[in-house]
Amino acid sequence: MKAILPLFIFIDACGWELIRNDPFARDFAPNRRRLESVFGYSSACVPSILSGRWPAEHRNWCYFVYDPNHSPFKPLRPLRWLPKAVTSRRIFRRWLGRFVRAHLKFRGYFDLYNIPFKHISLFDFTEKKCPLKPGGMNHGRNIFDFLELRGIPSHVSDSAKGELENLESVTADIASERIDFAFIYWPGLDGLLHRVGNQSPEVPLKLRQYEQWIKRLLAAAQTHYQEVRLYVFSDHGMANCHELLDLKSRIESLHPRMARDYVVVYDSTMARFWFFNERARHEISECLRQVPQGHIMPDDELKELRAFFPDRYFGELIFLVQEGVLIVPSHMGERPLRAMHGYHPRERHSYAALLTNQPDLSADIVAIPDLFRLMTREAERARSGNRSRDRAPDVNPMGSRSQDFDGGHTGMVTGSHPANGARTSVRRNVG
Ligand SMILES: [Zn+2]
Repeated sequence: MKAILPLFIFIDACGWELIRNDPFARDFAPNRRRLESVFGYSSACVPSILSGRWPAEHRNWCYFVYDPNHSPFKPLRPLRWLPKAVTSRRIFRRWLGRFVRAHLKFRGYFDLYNIPFKHISLFDFTEKKCPLKPGGMNHGRNIFDFLELRGIPSHVSDSAKGELENLESVTADIASERIDFAFIYWPGLDGLLHRVGNQSPEVPLKLRQYEQWIKRLLAAAQTHYQEVRLYVFSDHGMANCHELLDLKSRIESLHPRMARDYVVVYDSTMARFWFFNERARHEISECLRQVPQGHIMPDDELKELRAFFPDRYFGELIFLVQEGVLIVPSHMGERPLRAMHGYHPRERHSYAALLTNQPDLSADIVAIPDLFRLMTREAERARSGNRSRDRAPDVNPMGSRSQDFDGGHTGMVTGSHPANGARTSVRRNVG
């Protein structure tokens, strides 16, 4: 029997509003806290949790950016001649997405979404590596680099496997007492919420299923570890969509032309523009100011959210809609979804949640990037607890290298050490 197991269970989109009035996990994780999310989709939230840094620092923000010089998609341009009846079909795009991912050696999540082939060679895709693996960040390190450097044996869900398969796999690792840290990722609730909305009776049913799984896992862990420190958390919440906004038609009714005067990515809650002349900038900005369902994000607001990029890599102008509005059609999809996230982090349904069986949750855990600090603290605690039990000397094999993890970004020095079925089968709706 081992001394300590920190068990981190990441339930995608299990937001504060969803569980606030639901008994979810109350009997085994009664200490609950609302956490501020990060501005962006899962493509930004997940890397923030895993690295303890914010989008401006790790630069994993939105998937598609205007970058024709680095676009890996040029070979797909001839597909623009195929009839739309074929190219707009989800099944065709999913198959092609898998082919492209393998061909381009992308290691993370990849989906062609609804980017038209006519314009696809204007864009680059920003998540070429897998943030759930060591070395998976665009900039800096993540929790898996930390665990590797510190020599802490751990379990992490495999995004190519389904939720149940991952549950079986972590249960086996716990039974073997091989690990000192477990990170489980369940994306199923996110996909369900996008499909049915946050008021569907299917949602509490899914929460009950997760409760059963966690109880089983806890019971298994408690027979192999004296202390199981459970943390169930999310990256964001989910808002029902009650209004559709056809922003694309409004922009395309203006004089400036896509690819000649400007380039845009229509995400489902944002539109991000790059301009090639002042007339396009002026006309499009004026048009957007007349759209009451959203606003142009000022630089100061982006800076405050730590999602400001001085090189305008993710767009020169960011237009964001209010909670409950969905941009349709967008480059993310032709058809509406019942619910979406990726609104302003201070909107009601954006907040994430943290639930634990630990009564003494540190006061400095207030936003989702802080979860990284919590994970490193817990991993260090388990490492030294499990080693002293084995009477093994507690040496830090990396010397002071673990000090590098802070990177000066979040001031996360603590104690002796600083600190999108599966993702392939449940589509991340940028995401
Ligand atoms: Zn989602």
